[in-house]
Amino acid sequence: MARYTGPVCRLCRREGIKLYLKGERCFSEKCAIDKRPYAPGQHGQGRKRNSEYGSQLREKQKARRYYGVLESQFERYYEEAARRRGITGETLLSLLESRLDNVVYRLGFAASRAEARQIVRHGHIEVNGRRVDIPSFLVREGDVVAVREKSRDNGRIKELAEVIGNRTIPAWLQLDAEKLSGKVLRKPEREEIDTPVAEQMIVEYYSR
Ligand code: SF4
Repeated sequence: MARYTGPVCRLCRREGIKLYLKGERCFSEKCAIDKRPYAPGQHGQGRKRNSEYGSQLREKQKARRYYGVLESQFERYYEEAARRRGITGETLLSLLESRLDNVVYRLGFAASRAEARQIVRHGHIEVNGRRVDIPSFLVREGDVVAVREKSRDNGRIKELAEVIGNRTIPAWLQLDAEKLSGKVLRKPEREEIDTPVAEQMIVEYYSR
């Protein structure tokens, strides 16, 4: 499965905000955006030009990078959101939030979405009692996402389980910290999604 493998702090610096792509490091003084709060590259500190198209593009890139989704896949999410009933931008965010790797991260089973993706890919997660190793799997209302019994002794998962209480769990998910499992109570509403993007601008970007 294709994914971005370049330097991730560069992505935050490009977007000008913390995208929290590196787990614990993002909350430490080592965070690159705190140390160098300007765009990467030779002209990163130069004058910024802000066209309407440029702003729409940045919002799209920000959302894509936040969820760790590649261009073509993101476009497919947009097409799916546009096909569904409701407000396209909100449906798009709701689809992205429903990805299994995002749910694993939101429940605190991983420190970042990238780590969540790896945990899923390595077969440590089950949905409704069945192993699922596809990070883009979309969870639905009533689904139970859990760390598999035999994976609970995994060193990293144990480490994460110890600090699971520190994470704020969104209201559309219900965590059982003892069992390392979580239930999807409903589809996430826009106000329950803290992703710092203006989704309407993404819709405008694709509607050009
Ligand atoms: Fe972004 Fe985290 Fe890197 Fe800071 S440490 S720049 S928040 S990925």
